[in-house]
Amino acid sequence: MSQKAELEYGEVRNYVAGEWTAPGNEGIPVDNPATGETIAHIGFSTPENVDAAVEAGQDAFEEWRQRPVEERIQPLFELKQLLEEHQDELAELLVDEEGKTFAEAKGELRRGIENVEVATGIPSLMQAGHVENAAPGIDETAVRQPLGVFAAITPFNFPGMIPMWFLPYAVATGNSFILKPSEQDPLVPQRMVELAEEAGFPEGVVQLVNGGVDTVNAILNHEGIEGVSFVGSTPVAETIYERAAASGKRVQAQGGAKNHIIVTESADLEFAADKAIGSALACSGQRCLANDVVAVEESVYEEFVDLAVERADRQVVGYGNDGGTTVGPLISAEHEQQVRNDIETAISEGAELVYDGRELEVDEYDGNFLGPCVFRDLTADMVIARKEIFGPVVGIMPVSDLDEALAVMNASDYGNAASLFTSSGAEAKRFRHDAEAGNLAVNAGTAAPMAFFHFGGEKDSFFGDLHAQAEDVVRFYTDESVYIERWPNA
Ligand code: NAD
Repeated sequence: MSQKAELEYGEVRNYVAGEWTAPGNEGIPVDNPATGETIAHIGFSTPENVDAAVEAGQDAFEEWRQRPVEERIQPLFELKQLLEEHQDELAELLVDEEGKTFAEAKGELRRGIENVEVATGIPSLMQAGHVENAAPGIDETAVRQPLGVFAAITPFNFPGMIPMWFLPYAVATGNSFILKPSEQDPLVPQRMVELAEEAGFPEGVVQLVNGGVDTVNAILNHEGIEGVSFVGSTPVAETIYERAAASGKRVQAQGGAKNHIIVTESADLEFAADKAIGSALACSGQRCLANDVVAVEESVYEEFVDLAVERADRQVVGYGNDGGTTVGPLISAEHEQQVRNDIETAISEGAELVYDGRELEVDEYDGNFLGPCVFRDLTADMVIARKEIFGPVVGIMPVSDLDEALAVMNASDYGNAASLFTSSGAEAKRFRHDAEAGNLAVNAGTAAPMAFFHFGGEKDSFFGDLHAQAEDVVRFYTDESVYIERWPNA
């Protein structure tokens, strides 16, 4: 037996034209970030592997698009059922490859399943419009039609949810779909595609190609792919947007983030501290919705800093499949080192580290652990106030009032999410009007929309116009043509 076959989860495979096969190029090990053990191996797909998937997707599209919409959504009902039945198994696997806690993994999967549920409403969501007697004797109808083969390229931090922002809608609208998940944690996406196969999608409608940069390049270069959805870091999102558009594809590209929480004097401070620290530390800060800059009005600043430190001190860092763990490891040793470097930069720039998790040791496991770190006295020019850190690090900044907090926030290059804690309706109204971010929340730490609303940021957090989820993504996956009809003898 080869060494790869002995790995806990074996060799990651592609699913192309109804067959499970190994990608053509040598790849990398998949490590458990909590234990440091190699649990699987992933090969990288060649341009020929991508060609085969596109060809199978085009063949499948011809028949799939003709199926009545009511038939196309039946496998989605089956998929929802299977994802629910396998939720615990998927969550454990997700913890093993991504590192977040079991509860977070289950929550993530729930948000993925929600998208399957919403996509079963495609018969309504695909309806465009009809006007009788739009002009003398003329009726006009708008029709939404699928286009062909779409691909999605997804990041490591939500391997069970982000593919579902796209897959269910792409296929329910009548397209065929190719997923290229992150090479850092490909096991949950693979298991979900196995479940999609079991759910009964015809061969070539849902496909999986694994790989890294070269595989993405093959997708971008392929003339047979109609559109690309991307979620990941901003520099890559911007490149994908430019290259996909230059080759005539539809493209929606979600990028990185730097999210702010504003706490005003009128807020319930205990509640705000619970939510702010929860938002910053969930998934070890590796969320595009993590709020890691907290701007607090000076009159309640000292009290808030104490409350934040208390909450950081309550965290239990460890392996996410062990009960009681609240903060898991970072995805890789390389990323852990990057976050540690950012902490050093913050110290050198004069921010005060009032809760220091750097020396934390986790008994039993040799993973990429970093304890929570809380900084106070951030200023807007510091790197830690501007850069996406993507670790369990939160910085607190004193501000004189809501105006200053909004000015600091709106000066950010990013615009993914923002939250306000207040008991003033006037402040909430001002925030909703003036905050420059795609996802806003009042008295909630994480501005995550449900699947029946679209999800997407602004500024350097998003490149494109139609976002993920719900009606936006239905429009992304369809062409809308207008049909005019006249019957002179009627
Ligand atoms: P990443 O950009 O490194 O990788 C994302 C995907 O792109 C992966 O599938 C990867 O294989 C591929 N890729 C990486 N480098 C590439 C390159 N040079 N050319 C072509 N393809 C490339 O992102 P990540 O580290 O996996 O995920 C974390 C980032 O994703 C963070 O910045 C986070 O904020 C962002 N994110 C954004 C959202 C959102 O909705 N805006 C959601 C989740 C994560």
